[in-house]
Amino acid sequence: NGSRPVFAFRETPRQMPTRIPLELRQGGDWGELYGRFGEADAKHQAGRCLDCGNPYCSWKCPLHNYIPRWLELAREGRIHEAAALAHETNPLPEVCGRVCPQDRLCEGSCTLNDGFGAVTIGAVEKYIVDRALDEGWRPDLSRVVATGKRVAVIGAGPAGLSCADRLARAGIQAVVFDRYEQIGGLLHFGIPSFKLEKSVMAQRRDVLEGMGVQFRLGVEIGRDIGLDALLADHDAVFLGLGSYRYTDGGLPGQDLRNVLPALPFLVQNGRLVHGDDEAQAKPIAGWEDHIALPDLRGRRVVVLGGGDTGMDCVRSAVRLGAARVTCAYRRDEANMPGSAREVANAREEGVQFLFNRQPLALLGEETVNGVRVAETRLGEPDVRGRQRAEIVPGSESVLAADVVIIAFGFQPDPPAWLSAHGVELEDNGRIHVMQTQGCTTRRASNTAGRLPYQTTNARVFAGGDSVRGADLVVTAAYEGREAAAGIVRMLLG
Ligand code: FAD
Ligand code: SF4
Repeated sequence: NGSRPVFAFRETPRQMPTRIPLELRQGGDWGELYGRFGEADAKHQAGRCLDCGNPYCSWKCPLHNYIPRWLELAREGRIHEAAALAHETNPLPEVCGRVCPQDRLCEGSCTLNDGFGAVTIGAVEKYIVDRALDEGWRPDLSRVVATGKRVAVIGAGPAGLSCADRLARAGIQAVVFDRYEQIGGLLHFGIPSFKLEKSVMAQRRDVLEGMGVQFRLGVEIGRDIGLDALLADHDAVFLGLGSYRYTDGGLPGQDLRNVLPALPFLVQNGRLVHGDDEAQAKPIAGWEDHIALPDLRGRRVVVLGGGDTGMDCVRSAVRLGAARVTCAYRRDEANMPGSAREVANAREEGVQFLFNRQPLALLGEETVNGVRVAETRLGEPDVRGRQRAEIVPGSESVLAADVVIIAFGFQPDPPAWLSAHGVELEDNGRIHVMQTQGCTTRRASNTAGRLPYQTTNARVFAGGDSVRGADLVVTAAYEGREAAAGIVRMLLG
């Protein structure tokens, strides 16, 4: 395959895979925005890696993926070896390649950002794994010896799936329980298909079942089975419960008709897009209040909040035919939590961004007709080091709106049965776990002898959003992986 041309990055510009044309997206196409590289493009893009010797990309990736090494294998066309190497650190590489905010993580740290454009790490990761899986490659567990140990995993989101993957590789039977009928957690029912096609999770289920992972879906722990029963039947339990209590902005008027919380909006819409015609009448597990979606065609939609969820809402509203879609965010663009790539895509699809706007109230009689906002400027940093958004006196105005979607983020909502089993929580509702190295450094614990991601019940481990608070797929995958390492140490020494 020839040696690597060191200066390939000069001749070959950074290039992403082709995207669905704008007019189709605006016309309601829900297909995944980015296509897959062809073989030649994948080799060229992977070949742009300098192998700079100090792989900042790997350090910045929460999973510490062996990025330069699998880029080199991709350049050489050794796709199955590249896929095997990608799986050594990442239980869900095709998912992360699609949804990671690479501009803030691996690609944001690429040496080539120095004027040449980062290597398209995420797109190559997706290419390698999609192609290998399509060609029938599967993780090789032929040398794994069954240990006779069994672990129950509660939650089939990225944390739970990553934990199950690592347990299977250690010869431990993982049984994954989820209240939903499909695996993936937010990957299946929250993140829209234009970022992640549903077929990706179906394929991952096939891979995990091939590794011996068992799924018990449509089962809610605490309602259908108790944690005590799981502890009696299994050697340990992993909690990957997610974080679903949405942040209540306490805005006057938030009970008006056509004011929607973001996640039920995305879930209901996802069901309808995928042909579940009865979705409007079905409740969403975990949400007491059922919402029926208003028709957005020709309507003025205002989305409040600038995170990934907000970006998914604005781009869904575009595809649903809204006449005008506006995103109001209280800080400036540089401080937006949403990925810069998603903001650029939203802008291209016609979304208007109003930065430095603090919502004050939702207006209307029975149905919302506007949002009162005030302009803000950035002031002193808060406890987390982020500059506070301070209201500029006398700057109020009203945004006309037919539909308002509130996307202020999520907080952990731990079930009451945890404390009955000695699983302690932190003040903010996060499950308290033993500190570990890597991407989780903020939780300190002085309980000597505990294992990574072990809770205050020694046989119960936890990770993902229910431990960190709402965050990212890649950090949930990291915590599931590390918790599995802790479980393996406890059970196998
Ligand atoms: P989840 O994915 O929430 O999975 C938890 C699972 O546990 C669920 O399936 C739930 O049904 C199950 N469960 C909970 N309680 C029980 C119980 N008692 N019994 C049985 N099952 C139970 N991150 C990114 O990196 N990139 C993105 O582009 C991105 N976009 C996002 C868009 C939206 C709309 C949202 C809401 C989040 C987004 N995120 C994104 C964040 C990411 O999805 C989460 O950080 C990640 O899914 C957390 O993984 P988890 O496994 O901890 O929890
Ligand atoms: Fe980049 Fe995410 Fe892949 Fe890590 S897992 S290399 S951060 S895309």
